Amino acid sequence: MLDIKFIKAKQLKQKPAKGQPLGFGKIFTDYMFTMKYTEGKGWHDPVIEPYHNIELSPAAMVFHYGQEMFEGLKAYKGADGKVFLFRPDMNAKRANRSNDRLCIPNIPVEDFVQAVSELVKVEKDWIPEDEGTSLYIRPFVIATDDFLGVAPSKTYLFMVILSPSGAYYESGLAPVGIWIEDEYVRAVKGGTGFAKTGGNYASSLIAQVKAHDEGFSQVLWLDGVERKYIEEVGAMNIFFKIDGKVITPAINGSILPGVTRDSVINLVKSWGITVEERKISVEELLEAQHSGKLEEVFGTGTAAVISPVGKLRYMDEVMTINDGSIGKLSQKIYDTITGIQWGKIDDPFGWRVEL
Ligand SMILES: *Cc1c(COP(=O)(O)O)cnc(C)c1O
Repeated sequence: MLDIKFIKAKQLKQKPAKGQPLGFGKIFTDYMFTMKYTEGKGWHDPVIEPYHNIELSPAAMVFHYGQEMFEGLKAYKGADGKVFLFRPDMNAKRANRSNDRLCIPNIPVEDFVQAVSELVKVEKDWIPEDEGTSLYIRPFVIATDDFLGVAPSKTYLFMVILSPSGAYYESGLAPVGIWIEDEYVRAVKGGTGFAKTGGNYASSLIAQVKAHDEGFSQVLWLDGVERKYIEEVGAMNIFFKIDGKVITPAINGSILPGVTRDSVINLVKSWGITVEERKISVEELLEAQHSGKLEEVFGTGTAAVISPVGKLRYMDEVMTINDGSIGKLSQKIYDTITGIQWGKIDDPFGWRVEL
């Protein structure tokens, strides 16, 4: 158990009005959580304090060699004012898998969950209540030694910040167009693909910009060796419904193991539908499309939950999926997971955590 100090803000900010468009990641709440790490001493000085800019040496290692880890999850307000998190232990465990890969010291799972929970409780009035809105939670760790040598830092800062976020789809689920990237790659086995770290995003921006310029909203990455097998979308895992079965690329070291991905697999299996976690090539996808067996394609991630894909481009071919409309299964998964998250329906899996 962390003994978290609380420093009260002198003045609170104006909260967004009901119905005000929030967007994503633009508004921050009154408080943040911080905890320091020093070699030999471990994690120390956990505090919830007023949100403020931080001061770092220009030589701080995170600026030069990118030693950092982040997570993303949400708090939801149910109809009766109850506050929920969704599987926060999964984020805490994944944070440590990222930390291990990046030579960042582990944060005990219960301390991570406690930091997030206590900060959200302090800020519960910031959780927006309009349909589909939530409080986005961003825990992260940065290397803070002021040293230009290439080595793991001896000091770190763990922080949690909160941002009220709008409904991802303001007017219901809407299919997106996806660009299958055949030039750049995101990750390779042995690299950092399975870790949530800024560097993975820095190196993916160029393909994202290219896809946008071509009129597509996201990039679908192929494997880094043969550029043949499907890996995942920008910040989402990917699922295909082919001939009645659900297929998603297996976790292989270069794919980010999403909490939403795991939830979708468990949910769909519980409905008696076959789920295959395996390699799937673009070729297999094209064949399924040409023979009329590709029924649905959707991405999964905390931000959108389910992102139906209406259009997929690979080289010179543009495939229209399910006539560009939302698949029945995609909609059912979305309704069920969001129903569990907002406390509207039963939670047979025990995923919802009430604060
Ligand atoms: C965070 C993330 C996901 C989705 O993970 P969730 O836990 O479901 O939000 C997928 N791919 C990448 C690259 C990510 O960073």
